[in-house]
Amino acid sequence: MLFRTFLSVSAALVIVSTPALAEPWKVKQEWVSSHTSFLASEALQGRTSATRDEAIAAAYIAAQFEAFGLKPAPGMTSYIQTAAIDHPELDGKARLTAGGVDVAQGQGLTLYYSHGQTITGKIAVAKSSDPAQMPDGDILIITPDAKFTLGAWWRAAVQKGVKLLIVRESDDTKKRMEGIGGETMVPARLVEQPVEKPRADIAFVAADAFDKLMKADGQDITFTVGQVKKPQQITSNAIGWLQGSDPNAGVILISAHLDAIGAHDDKVVLGANDDASGVAAVLELARALSAGGQPKRSVMFVAYGAEEIGLLGSQYFAMKPPVPLESIVANLEIEMIGQQDPKMPAGVMMMTGFDRSDFGESLKAKGALIAPDLYPEQNFFERSDNYQLALQGIVAHTVSGWAVTPTYHSPDDNIANLNLPFMTQAIQSLVEPVTWLANGDYTPKWKEGGRPK
Ligand SMILES: [Zn+2]
Repeated sequence: MLFRTFLSVSAALVIVSTPALAEPWKVKQEWVSSHTSFLASEALQGRTSATRDEAIAAAYIAAQFEAFGLKPAPGMTSYIQTAAIDHPELDGKARLTAGGVDVAQGQGLTLYYSHGQTITGKIAVAKSSDPAQMPDGDILIITPDAKFTLGAWWRAAVQKGVKLLIVRESDDTKKRMEGIGGETMVPARLVEQPVEKPRADIAFVAADAFDKLMKADGQDITFTVGQVKKPQQITSNAIGWLQGSDPNAGVILISAHLDAIGAHDDKVVLGANDDASGVAAVLELARALSAGGQPKRSVMFVAYGAEEIGLLGSQYFAMKPPVPLESIVANLEIEMIGQQDPKMPAGVMMMTGFDRSDFGESLKAKGALIAPDLYPEQNFFERSDNYQLALQGIVAHTVSGWAVTPTYHSPDDNIANLNLPFMTQAIQSLVEPVTWLANGDYTPKWKEGGRPK
């Protein structure tokens, strides 16, 4: 009896302990929706880079990381990394003096691109419209034409370390100012980033003043722009850490950017697709991987601030990474997966720089719904945070639903225009490949010539 009883009990135990096939993780659409609903809500006013709205978005992401069981990254005591940003604001009182005499100011002097610095030097007048014939000098008077455009001049001027380009006002310059909403482009930079050589400011000057400057070839010139005093700006990166079992197996980096462009022309761009959708993907991959138990490799989930003003959050992260950059074996950035490009096969995302490495093929083989980027001429590979990591040698790509969507940077980039079923399916397709990546020893490699310089 006893023996039989023992047998039957043990048989029962065997049946109970036979592992049922693990249910595959299921990303729920309402989870995806909840993140975008908060991040792209009116309350956050478009999460302008390096503002309090951006900080609140970062705090939300940090709270989610904690709820999913992630820890602060090694060496950090919280989920937030902050960086100071210098983003000058101009007071509109620029002036240009030659030989000590005022030449242009007010209406006659329009700043197209300025670092907010005073510039002094000798005027050099370019005699040709071809930048290849550029004279030496700090300040150049130039006459771009249809063949050699302002853009071509500017790129050549940056190469040569020119401080200021002066262009005669024309229909072309007026159109350019309209194109940027009539506001001078003023680049932002990290306070901790060493100041590089000047990057060629651009000023448009009215015809009469321009003619005076043409005659002042070789004279000393001073260009001043007044700055508005304002408090230092702070940007926030939210970072969550899933500790792997093997500290020597490397780290996988999954990222998106949490800021957006805020208000423009009195209309708020809520940034539901760009890039609350990518943040939702980072959060849901964090939830899925954390729920799957401890992986072999550690996984770092990051939502960067200040992407929209020059990839500054990711630049800071690459300058001050919580773990050595050499330990990061791959970076997957997720950008704008809230809509799908109608030119792509149904449900499939595009990966920027697909052919630069073997990463995309490997993820695809494991079920990721990704394919090569349809618009290589747009250089999207260099236009998202993945690029800052790629510049450091890390195989880093961005996946996107539709990079040239009609709602891009427009007030229509709102929750109503998100394709939630597509998003959910896209994120779902990444769960298995990223889990595989975190538990294996495959390390993606650049292909010949694929690594950016
Ligand atoms: Zn973006």
